[in-house]
Amino acid sequence: MAEFTLIDLIRARATHGRDDVVLGIGDDAALLQPPPGMQLVVAMDTLNDGVHFPPGTEAAQVGWKALAVNLSDLAAMGAEPAWCTLSLSLPDGDPAWVAGFLDGFLALAALHRVALVGGDTTRGPLSVSVTVHGFADPGRALCRDGARVGDSVWVSGTLGGAAGALAQWREGRAISPALRERLERPLPRIALGRALAGVASACIDVSDGVLADLGHVCAASGVGARLELDALPGADLLRPHFDGDALRALQASGGDDYELCFTVPATKDATVAAAAAATGVTVTRIGTGVAGQGVQAFDSEGRIWQPAQAGHEHFSTPAPPAARPL
Ligand code: ADP
Ligand code: MG
Repeated sequence: MAEFTLIDLIRARATHGRDDVVLGIGDDAALLQPPPGMQLVVAMDTLNDGVHFPPGTEAAQVGWKALAVNLSDLAAMGAEPAWCTLSLSLPDGDPAWVAGFLDGFLALAALHRVALVGGDTTRGPLSVSVTVHGFADPGRALCRDGARVGDSVWVSGTLGGAAGALAQWREGRAISPALRERLERPLPRIALGRALAGVASACIDVSDGVLADLGHVCAASGVGARLELDALPGADLLRPHFDGDALRALQASGGDDYELCFTVPATKDATVAAAAAATGVTVTRIGTGVAGQGVQAFDSEGRIWQPAQAGHEHFSTPAPPAARPL
């Protein structure tokens, strides 16, 4: 199908109720009206076929996730999302695939009142890039560099579910529905991030595993962190399928959960609990900022624990099993 017909399809479905979109899809560029006095917060993320999702992943899931990982970055900044653009590289311009993609993408966009205001459509290997734009009050965006010694370290939701689904897929096991949901339908924690603006001292979204991502916060802030492994949330979800060190590694180092990991001065722990209650998201205290550098994870006996393999693995490393759907 021709590029223009695909764009027409996208344009027809990219409806939104935002009056700050002066001009959306259809001209050479979009015209957008930011609210006076607010800072613009911009993030971009790409999903490549076979790298960020297994070949053959349902189009709607790719669509949901492409926007979710971007909104998660805005959540981690404490920003309010507003607009997005979408670059689609498609091997064969299949309108049915694009329609499915839009089902997932626009469902999540509607949940957060995000307008799709433009993009680009090209032929090439399947790849999806999204840019999101949002707003933050000047001085209140959540950055990575504000953590201090003595701060409490918190995380939202549960950890390890997405990596658990991926592990089951890699091992050729049946994927449990609850874990699959975590991998395919991550929920960007926008409301929580906004509630934490002005409260948290630092924040990051957990895309590469909490050990690695909290490590980024520590490096940017010039502090260390002590992580209590047994406090990590989500073990109940994993325990029917994993145990021992494998379970621990999923929780500490598994990627793709898109939860928020944040630090607050210990005097504000009660405010965090209130923010969580107000936004309907569970939060768990998992550690403390300490002098030094890097994250040290401790088990319940007070022993330092290290993952056999650090950080996040893409679908391409190691080579995926013969291409098969998730
Ligand atoms: P140009 O050649 O001027 O870059 P295009 O033909 O690429 O214009 O795009 C025409 C219009 O359609 C533009 O407004 C562009 O933002 C929009 N558009 C193209 N591809 C997409 C897409 N994948 N998603 C949303 N809008 C798109
Ligand atoms: Mg173009």
